[in-house]
Amino acid sequence: MIESPTVDTDQHDEQSQRRRPAIVAVDDEPAVLAAVSRDLRRGFGERYRVMRANSGADGLDLLKQVRARGEQVALLVADQRMPGLSGTDYLVQARQLVPEAKRVLLTAYADTEAAIQAINEVDLDYYLLKPWDPPEEQLFPIVEDLLTTWENGAALDSGGVRVIGHRFSKESHDVRDFLARNRVPARFLDVEREAEARELLAVTGVTADRLPVALLEDGSILERPTTLELAERLRISAQPIGDHYDLVIVGGGPAGLAAAVYGASEGLRTVLVEREAPGGQAGQSSRIENYLGFPHGLSGSDLAHRATDQARRLGAELVTVQEAVALRVEGSGRFVELTGGGTLSANTVLVASGVSYRQLNAPGFAELTGAGVYYGAALTEARACADQHVVVIGGANSAGQAAVYFSGYAGRVTMLVRADSLAKSMSHYLIEQIDGLPNVEVRSRAQAVGAEGKDGHLRALRIRAADGTETVEQADACFVFIGAAPRTDWLDGVVARDERGFILAGPDVRDHGWPLSREPYALETSVPGVFVAGDVRMRSIKRVASAVGEGSMAVSLIHEYLASA
Ligand SMILES: Cc1cc2nc3c(=O)[nH]c(=O)nc-3n(C[C@H](O)[C@H](O)[C@H](O)COP(=O)(O)OP(=O)(O)OC[C@H]3O[C@@H](n4cnc5c(N)ncnc54)[C@H](O)[C@@H]3O)c2cc1C
Repeated sequence: MIESPTVDTDQHDEQSQRRRPAIVAVDDEPAVLAAVSRDLRRGFGERYRVMRANSGADGLDLLKQVRARGEQVALLVADQRMPGLSGTDYLVQARQLVPEAKRVLLTAYADTEAAIQAINEVDLDYYLLKPWDPPEEQLFPIVEDLLTTWENGAALDSGGVRVIGHRFSKESHDVRDFLARNRVPARFLDVEREAEARELLAVTGVTADRLPVALLEDGSILERPTTLELAERLRISAQPIGDHYDLVIVGGGPAGLAAAVYGASEGLRTVLVEREAPGGQAGQSSRIENYLGFPHGLSGSDLAHRATDQARRLGAELVTVQEAVALRVEGSGRFVELTGGGTLSANTVLVASGVSYRQLNAPGFAELTGAGVYYGAALTEARACADQHVVVIGGANSAGQAAVYFSGYAGRVTMLVRADSLAKSMSHYLIEQIDGLPNVEVRSRAQAVGAEGKDGHLRALRIRAADGTETVEQADACFVFIGAAPRTDWLDGVVARDERGFILAGPDVRDHGWPLSREPYALETSVPGVFVAGDVRMRSIKRVASAVGEGSMAVSLIHEYLASA
């Protein structure tokens, strides 16, 4: 039986209750269901509507009703041990109905193993041991954290800027992606499918050849905006405020952000320059499962957003949508030149510019990039993939994560892997996850050799199988993960790099222009006082944790350098 939504204090205001996002609790034991609902209402009742059901099947019916009314579900809480559908089984099905909702499993100590299994099966966000007393310590902080993350995601989709464009246009994709990565709340309106989009165009007088158009909250209208224009109008881009810094960090991925946190907190005047949006590659990961201290994993955008807030709070300056284009060395001064003509002066520089996706060099791919072909996970596209056929190219962890993520939205996902199995390149936990997903097919020794479009959008891929035969197969979207390379040309002739552009450091620079009699520090480049951390370093381990470790280690070496200079 589904119990009616709990409306305690403000039953009279049914309309406002309706609009609040829902938290749905499911437990077959009436006493536990009553207790969890009571505590959730006490902690979150002002912002959320707490609804309950006493079986998994009733919980699913309730979710269908909520969805049918067009209302949002923020959080699902379910007991693991229930007759009929177990908590895990319920959450698997609930995920199909409300993929954005956060998921918490209630478990007894004896069920811990099942809960850990569920982390993979249902992409669980947390398992909570019963009893959760006192709720102020055991329940509220966890739920608050999950709801804040959910709210950030929901806000991004709902408010603020309205972007009107063609779903399958590269320019529209770039604008959406830029706003999402910079956490600007924005709503996308597809001119072909949404009447509201056409009405707004008629009102504003913008013609179809001027799309995409961004309607800002202050009433201004930007036709075919560049990211720089958007950044300036939305005040995303910041100009440096200092004349001189102890440390300039180039790149706002995990390595750069970690250095900003440690540098600023340890008293260095620190500025970080980022050309796109803080977070780097990690910011594009749908779920990082192996970062220490987050047993339930966390999304890359969540990690990026937490780290950015932390760096700012500790006093680091962040200068975004600005690219470092040259490094000058004058005596003990180090100068980083930026796009747009600005220059940052510093005692030390840390290059943490990571790597960028390699492009797939086959007919059709370049033309269709942004219009069905995407490099990286392009998480903003996920919802548009509902019921569609998504192809993921690549066999490493990033491709595996994308396949798992898109399987929650797409009708089916095909992975094209050049090697004869995933085992050589992908972590075991991801392979297991993929094996358990009925709508994901892995094709080994297969590669995409061409992309075909129709009306400016990807329509099909030409796929070469292990035996050399080629077939043309329908595909709605294709996400490419075929490795990455550093973009360090701006350091050419200044800092020693290997033939692929990775930066040499420590003992490796001794024979590559190291000018001093002292030994270089472990992360020091061939230019004293210029350090390197993360994926851009030659022979680095390509992991979030190692990038974070190197970023923090670089700061410690920078202290030594400054003390001896
Ligand atoms: C989809 C995906 C999933 C992943 N999942 C995992 C995972 O689960 N676990 C794990 O450990 N690792 C994972 N990785 C790898 C991990 O994200 C990287 O190892 C890590 O992000 C490297 O950090 P970084 O700071 O060195 O560089 P990056 O993350 O590459 O960041 C570099 C930043 O520098 C900026 N930049 C570059 N050049 C300039 C310039 N000239 N001026 C200004 N800014 C510049 C870039 O825009 C970028 O934001 C994943 C990678 C991808 C792509």
